[in-house]
Amino acid sequence: MKGRVITKIKGFYYVQVEETTYECRLRGILKKKNNKDNCVTGDLVEFGEDGFITKVYPRQNIIHRPLVSNIDYLVIQFSALDPKFDIGRFNILLLNAFYYKIKPVAVINKIELLDEEGLKELKGQLDFLKGLDIEVFYISTYENIGVEKVKDYIKDKITAFGGPSGAGKSSLLNMLQEEKVLEIGETSRKHSRGKHTTKGTTLLPMENGGWVIDTPGFSSIELPPIKTVDELAGLFTEFNEYRNCKYSNCIHINEPECGIKNELNHGISQSRYDFYLWCYKFYSEERWNKY
Ligand code: GDP
Repeated sequence: MKGRVITKIKGFYYVQVEETTYECRLRGILKKKNNKDNCVTGDLVEFGEDGFITKVYPRQNIIHRPLVSNIDYLVIQFSALDPKFDIGRFNILLLNAFYYKIKPVAVINKIELLDEEGLKELKGQLDFLKGLDIEVFYISTYENIGVEKVKDYIKDKITAFGGPSGAGKSSLLNMLQEEKVLEIGETSRKHSRGKHTTKGTTLLPMENGGWVIDTPGFSSIELPPIKTVDELAGLFTEFNEYRNCKYSNCIHINEPECGIKNELNHGISQSRYDFYLWCYKFYSEERWNKY
């Protein structure tokens, strides 16, 4: 049978196939010593009648904190106020999404705390997302504004959450997930019958299909482990169509006839370019000079 690992508890893998969850173990040959990545929550696997997993399918992506694979969306969630929206932190999370190859979705919560003028100003700051083809949802979990739209958008997918604490991630998660106790399927024996508390990262099913990941990842403001300036620029996907710079090794800072700088305030927003400069400075001073 083929299914999805929805959680791992003490060496057992809980694999969901349609409505049923099977308790499985890993075949010896799939175990590599001291490698926690052999089989992780989110993996698509094959297993036999005996409950042994015989195959782990190639992954579309993986993150390590929390340890989970095959994530379709990263909801980058901030609150409009309390704590106040922070475009710098937002950009850092966005960079992480591109680095880990997870499609980002922006969610701004607590919009009932803003007046019309405040909301307009906030929308202005996020206007550049249109050019990146990233959806933005303005919501309030308190007043149930916009939550259904988020639900619809992430239906049938695996969604992770990131953002500062206090943004209302837990509040939104509670509204998205279906309340359901894991059912243990036929292959299960001996251990963990019925209800159990989970320790590992868990995919929580949503009412209309798909899963949300129970623990928010990316709550810190760490920048991803980028190795070169080319790699950094590559994560600013809006740069792609303007990369007709005079010099092929242009890093878009001081060079003349730079396609990116020519587009400032047209195809490329000043705030994103400033963020690029800020990242470049950080990586060249704090990271790259140490390699
Ligand atoms: P997390 O740290 O991101 O998981 O955030 P929580 O879900 O714990 O929420 C942080 C605080 O914000 C709590 O006091 C919530 O009650 C509050 N909160 C959540 N959603 C809203 C909202 O839509 N509007 C307002 N004003 N407060 C909210």
